[in-house]
Formats: sequence, structure tokens, C-alpha cells
Amino acid sequence: MSSIILEARDIRYRYPRGLEAICGISFHIRKCEKIAIVGPNGAGKSTLMLLFNGMIRPDSGILLFDNEPVRYDKSSLRMIRKRIGFVLQNPDRQIIAPTVYQDVAFGPVNLGYSESEVKAAVGGALRYVGLEGFERRPPHQLSGGEKKRVAIAGVLAMDPDVLIFDEPTAGLDPSGSEDIMELLDELNSQGKTIIISTHDIELAYPWADRVILLLGGKILQEDIPDVAFGSPEYVRKAHLSMPTLLELYFELEKRGFSLPERKPRTILDMLNVIDRAFHNRPCCSEPGAIMVYNVDLAEMDSFRAWLSKNPELSIGAMGTRAKQRAMDYQITMDFTYGVIDKCILKALLGEGSVILTTESMVQRIFDRVRDFSRENGVNIPVSLLPEASENTE
Ligand code: ADP
Repeated sequence: MSSIILEARDIRYRYPRGLEAICGISFHIRKCEKIAIVGPNGAGKSTLMLLFNGMIRPDSGILLFDNEPVRYDKSSLRMIRKRIGFVLQNPDRQIIAPTVYQDVAFGPVNLGYSESEVKAAVGGALRYVGLEGFERRPPHQLSGGEKKRVAIAGVLAMDPDVLIFDEPTAGLDPSGSEDIMELLDELNSQGKTIIISTHDIELAYPWADRVILLLGGKILQEDIPDVAFGSPEYVRKAHLSMPTLLELYFELEKRGFSLPERKPRTILDMLNVIDRAFHNRPCCSEPGAIMVYNVDLAEMDSFRAWLSKNPELSIGAMGTRAKQRAMDYQITMDFTYGVIDKCILKALLGEGSVILTTESMVQRIFDRVRDFSRENGVNIPVSLLPEASENTE
């Protein structure tokens, strides 16, 4: 198990002339975890996040970052804000400069980076969020999703270890929300710890490794998502509702169906539950293959030619850069979110698929497909696609 990166010991915070917003909270977050802080309006989520990166100071209790108590002198706070990046809910409050470049450069300049370091940091961050070429654009002319990406790039430019997002998908349309959630997964697969606050349980349930359920400035429950959201009593107390898939699982259980112990977190998991309940057979006998294509090593022209000869394949793209490469080469994507599960669903119908992605995600795809295969007694072939040129014959 990886080490603890952030810890709170009985912290309390009261706003000047306000009620106590955080009332004695203790928890720890491990490196590389995906944490969702969930609770109704006024629960204390935003306050807790402000405490995390030192914007406000607890009245009592201790916050530890990397096993060291957070200190509040100027240089310690500067270090904390570099290592714990905070993306506000409303990008208009985060974006301050007249151009995208200047805005993303703000953090690195303040940290005293040299001009060439600033340039490299800004270039890298904009590339990461898929906004290369946007450097000179005035942020106010961008769409909501693009502004969000600028705000994220501004934080990424400082290369933080932990990223905190207050309501990351607020104000975005469903596809914009999916893009942002995928970006969070991509950052996590590269070793960043990700903490989000949300009251959207359908978003938090499949995404989080752990959920902290907050109510009235206290922790009501802290556990893996199906436990945290699995108690009707707590869910009701927190003015939330149970995630649909979990509710459906409990309804099937009440009706006496034999169900796998692991609760469904995705449509794929649910399908598996239903298959077992009604047929007692996990999947079809001859699953389709999943091929993984690393766009960083790509011969995209020949790959596209190969794809055109295999029109039956579904195409998924994982990660901002992979999606961008697909768009650059006019490759139509069937899936851009929840891609691995959607390709497994295809495989279970005996259909093949290709996932376009970048180096850092390849292992995750292999692990997920192999874990699924092992847990469900199927053998879904998964392979790294050979260089496309070899396949164009
Ligand atoms: P959430 O993010 O879960 O909606 P908040 O952290 O914003 O909750 O608020 C927690 C509590 O603190 C609420 O009772 C809220 O009214 C209060 N609060 C938040 N900001 C301030 C402030 N600037 N001054 C006084 N009280 C505040």
C-alpha cells in the first residue's frame, strides 16, 4: 500500500462571524488515490479543500502533508501551493491573465522559474490538456470546457503531486464532463493524487477509490464507494441518493437472486450481475479481441488505412492526446469515455475493438481486461497492435 500524502488530525475551522464549518475531522489520503469528498450544499466540502492547500488555517488540529505538519509562513505556503494544486469550481475566478499563455505562466513565474523553464512548463501543460495553439487566445472567448482546461493547465504547470478539484464538472455539458473526468484519470495514471468535491453521486461512485461523506462539517462515512453509498440511512442523512446501479443491485438481492459479491460500479459490472442472476453464465464463449494502439509510436496514416479495411471494429480513444490524434486524422471514435469497459462489452458480444491511447495508459488497459477475464472466467484477447504498416497488406 502506498504511503500517506495528506492527513488531517482533528481539524476544526470556523469562519469569522460564522458557524463552525469543519468540526473535528480526521482522515488520511494515500499517494495516487482518487478521493471523492461528497456531501450536500453547506456540508463543508469547499472549506475542507481550502484547508488542504493552506488557503485557510485550521483553528485547531493538525494537517500533515507528506508526513510533515503544514506550516503557514510564506515560503512553506508557496511550497504547499506548488505541490497541492487547487482547481476552483468556476474557472472565471481562477483565470486572471489576458491571454491563455500568461495565465498558465502565472504559477511558474511566481515560483521563480527561468524564462525557458516557464515556456517549457506552459507548453507541456497546454499540450497535456489539449490546448496547444491556444497560447495567444483571450480566455474570456473560450468555451466553458476550454476555460476549465486552462485553469487545470495553470495548476499542472507547477507539476503538483496532489490535484484538488472543487466540483470539477459543474457547468459543463455531459460530454465536457466526461472529458474532464477522463483527464483526471489520465493524471492519476501518471501518479498524481486526485481529490474532487462533488454532490454528484453518479459521478463519484464509479470514479473514486474512496469516498468521504461529509455532513455538517463532520465525516459521516469514509470508505470504498459501494460501502460509503451502500447505507440507505447515511445516504438519506446526507440528503443524497443511492447510485442507480447500487440500488438496482440491492433490489435484485432482495428478490433472492444469486449475485456476485462485488457490487457493480459500471454498466459492464451490472451486465455481469444480470447475466449471473438470470442465466448463471458470465459471458459468451468466444469473446472479441481488444487491440491497443499507442498513438505516440504511431504511423497514423497507415493505421487509418488499416482501420478502413476493418470497418467492423469499434474504435475507442483514451486520453486527451489520443483523442486529438484521432481527430487530426479524421478517425471517427465510437467511445471516448469509459472506453475499456465499453470495449469489454463489445468483446462479450463477440465483437472486436481498438483502443487508441498513449504509453502511460497501456498497462491500465491490459490490467483491467485481464482482471475482468480472470474474475469472470472468460478469455478476452488483448494485444498491443503491431505497427500498422505490417497490417496494411
Ligand atoms: P460546501 O462546499 O459543502 O457547499 P462550504 O464549505 O462552502 O460547504 O460551507 C460550509 C459552511 O460554512 C456552510 O455553513 C457555509 O454557510 C459556511 N461558510 C462558507 N463560506 C463562508 C464564509 N466565507 N463566511 C462564513 N461562513 C461561510
